[in-house]
Amino acid sequence: MSFQNAYLNSVMDDLRARYAHEPEYLQAVEEFLEPLSPVIDSDPRYEQQNIVGRMAEPERLICFPVSWVDDQGKTRLNHGFRVQHSSALGPYKGGLRFHPSVNQSVMKFLAFEQTFKDCLTTLPMGGGKGGSDFDPKGKSDGEVMRFCQAFMNELYRHIGENTDVPAGDIGVGCREIGYLFGRYKKLKNQWTGAITGKSLASGGSLTRTEATGFGLCYFGAAYLADHGQSFQGKKVIISGSGNVATYANQKCTEMGATVVAMSDSNGYVVDENGIDFRIIQQIKEQKRERISTYPNYVPTAKYVEGCAGIWSVPCDIAMPCATQNEIDTDSAKLLVSNGCKAVFEGSNMPCTPEAIQAIKASGLLYSPSKASNAGGVAVSGLEMSQNSERLYWTFEAVDAKLKEIMENIYRQCADTAAKYGQEGDIQAGANIVSFLKVADAMLWQGVY
Ligand code: GLU
Repeated sequence: MSFQNAYLNSVMDDLRARYAHEPEYLQAVEEFLEPLSPVIDSDPRYEQQNIVGRMAEPERLICFPVSWVDDQGKTRLNHGFRVQHSSALGPYKGGLRFHPSVNQSVMKFLAFEQTFKDCLTTLPMGGGKGGSDFDPKGKSDGEVMRFCQAFMNELYRHIGENTDVPAGDIGVGCREIGYLFGRYKKLKNQWTGAITGKSLASGGSLTRTEATGFGLCYFGAAYLADHGQSFQGKKVIISGSGNVATYANQKCTEMGATVVAMSDSNGYVVDENGIDFRIIQQIKEQKRERISTYPNYVPTAKYVEGCAGIWSVPCDIAMPCATQNEIDTDSAKLLVSNGCKAVFEGSNMPCTPEAIQAIKASGLLYSPSKASNAGGVAVSGLEMSQNSERLYWTFEAVDAKLKEIMENIYRQCADTAAKYGQEGDIQAGANIVSFLKVADAMLWQGVY
């Protein structure tokens, strides 16, 4: 892909040459720069101060080995990362992912995306991401605890409530956050809000667990309403069955939709009567089983092996909530030909660039993850506020604030797209508005 603006092309060419072995990172940057040409043309300072080149690279990249002892007494080695991408708008903020697919490219793409997502919330947060290629799946509680402690033995020196505030992501839920927070507190001898997604009794925020899924639906509802529609009576596919997917199911079901299919990395379940989020929660969070067991609890459901097949299920709305690049061109075309009208992204960068093109070219509503999945980090921001003032807010107060933030993100994206002649293009709006915010802060702070 090449851009209209020559400076953007030169930045992208440099990145391609330098990071040829980091495809996810290059994909995220390229997607972000695509609608920016008219914005760059409008102010010579962006090129003069190399704002885009400086914004694209992380401010700091931390890599470290993580050694831990398994239940057999064998010493195991994994690789840890923390990518501190941008502190232009606040302390680095973003989750930790524990998954075998984690590598430097994946970490850098996630940290890059996080910066722009976080700024859309309008809360004072920079962007970062971290994690490890450790797989919590199939590990005992003791092994997970020892791994988390070993990971924190290094990470603790790089984070803090005013420096960098990690949270959860794929493979890092309430259990892992507890072990990480416990070790952090021990090492620092300080009780601070340096990690979010904490359990309620330990300084967590009500609604944080539900926030990404709920936020996705609040965003989707605002987008649909702008087009005279709603979730009422819609058939929805939600890929994944983790935290985002589970609570997206709860909220859109409450809004009158029927979730006809959900998945995990092995396969998917279909039920025209609707997939029950409470059973998914029980299978995944309490029993830590595979989704293939769902029909044992709900006999009307059918399990199909192979997760990619979920996109062949006819639906009105697709909400990918599993992982990056889970919708390729073929899946996108299947969705379109089966009558799907909207794709709202819940996982980070779930659609390949070609899939996005196919979705938009067919006139579907399309929301990029940095806008529609910002609810999780938004409530993390609210958790930081509550920790700072040593107070807890009610579920209703946090939920209302989350809804307001998501509706505001939609409005900012839609209005900015219109202002720059790309009416209706929420992807362009999200990238332009978040670029402007980070760029303005960088211009104001000088060449640091
Ligand atoms: N991992 C989530 C995300 O991708 C949440 C990050 C956070 O709460 O800091 O936005």
